[in-house]
Amino acid sequence: MNNDIALIRRAIRDIPNFPKPGIVFKDITRSQKIDAVLGIESRGFIIGSALAYKLGAGFCIVRKPGKLPYDTHRASYELEYGTDALEIHVDAMPANARVIIADDLIATGGTAAATAKLVSKLGGTVVECAFVIELSFLKGREKLKPHGVFSLLQYDSE
Ligand code: AMP
Repeated sequence: MNNDIALIRRAIRDIPNFPKPGIVFKDITRSQKIDAVLGIESRGFIIGSALAYKLGAGFCIVRKPGKLPYDTHRASYELEYGTDALEIHVDAMPANARVIIADDLIATGGTAAATAKLVSKLGGTVVECAFVIELSFLKGREKLKPHGVFSLLQYDSE
């Protein structure tokens, strides 16, 4: 229920000073065209492909280094000990694509933030990052700003 309301709230945009100075107009006439969903290896492939099918969007895969056969872009991110990286095919999506990043879980947000960097390398726009589970106490959504984060289940502590 709370998630349904959050979804509706995000679809409404505020337009300040319309139709007169001092009025914030709540604009409900907003459509979100999604060109592609990006699934992060490996459980993001399950969530992301279902989401792409439901939205009628394309599906792109973001993989661990060395797994993709064609030319790639790479983005590194910090782990608790050391660094890791993710790769995407250079032609994974059309230029100016509007995309959703999908994974099973957001913890620190490093994985999704690296994926967002790959989207910008390809000239795309992240419309939202979507997860089944959010470990809210790790504040991963702050690492993803200014991108919006949607999660079905939130854990406030371990
Ligand atoms: P992070 O980059 O810290 O947000 O980590 C998110 C990625 O690591 C996702 O791809 C998750 O599948 C995985 N992950 C991190 N922590 C957990 C956890 N506690 N349980 C399950 N998966 C996790």
